[in-house]
Amino acid sequence: MDQNMKYGSDYKPVPATSIKSGQSIEVLPELFCHTIQIVNICLAGNPETKEFVLIDAGMPGSANEIVSVSEKYFGANSRPKAIILTHGHFDHVGAIIELVKHWEVPVYAHELEIPFLTGQTSYSEPDPTVEGGMVAKMSSLFPNEPVDLGSNVRKLPMDGTVPHLPDFRWIHTPGHSPGHISLFREKDRTLLAGDAFVTVKQDSLYKVLTQKQEVSGPPRYFTTDWKAAKESVQELSSLKPAVAVTGHGLPMAGEELSKELEKLAQEFDNIAIPDYGRYVDKKQ
Ligand SMILES: [Zn+2]
Ligand SMILES: [Zn+2]
Repeated sequence: MDQNMKYGSDYKPVPATSIKSGQSIEVLPELFCHTIQIVNICLAGNPETKEFVLIDAGMPGSANEIVSVSEKYFGANSRPKAIILTHGHFDHVGAIIELVKHWEVPVYAHELEIPFLTGQTSYSEPDPTVEGGMVAKMSSLFPNEPVDLGSNVRKLPMDGTVPHLPDFRWIHTPGHSPGHISLFREKDRTLLAGDAFVTVKQDSLYKVLTQKQEVSGPPRYFTTDWKAAKESVQELSSLKPAVAVTGHGLPMAGEELSKELEKLAQEFDNIAIPDYGRYVDKKQ
């Protein structure tokens, strides 16, 4: 294992939370979801065989919590086969270095996300001026410098397969970040959407705190390419997922999901794209 890993220079705990923080649910057999402050991680795998994969790596300082949730479902000293990242924003890689050291497992991400995971490229600064609520306004606190995982991070296979998750395929869903991916399981139409869309209005502090369900576009303060974000939502909507777990907000299923996701895809410009902000050009 390459021991030379480091977080971005602006890495720090962020004081934001929700009523679901610390709670876990079994979304489906072999799919567990856990909320860390304001972000979700997923564990996909079979508790009997103890073979599983972690999807995303939580907030800064949450490694012990992620290890104990993993052990709760998969047994003492269990470890995932790999960590798959939907993207590399601070709230999805917050505990990754401690986890890689503890478990000694590889990390997989889309090749366009690798520069943001190997210390080469910073994300654009979060935009506190974007149209939105308190979370958007406090987003200047959010780290945007890249983590450096060295040789511990690998490119996902180009053929769409997901290492150690044979039922899933990955789909490139850029816009929120260049190498953002979603994971889809055809047999029961399960979608792990990362931040391509979310089920809570992530820029509103009240809605984040209460986790009121509402299919929304990607978190505004970090989204820089709205044209790509729109196409990604349209592609995910066309998959007609039966269940969706997103990076923020509670899992959603059935008719509520299909109706709201279709609406988001059709009315993306109105619902998702902010009226003003640094990365918005509504004329696009
Ligand atoms: Zn994000
Ligand atoms: Zn996020």
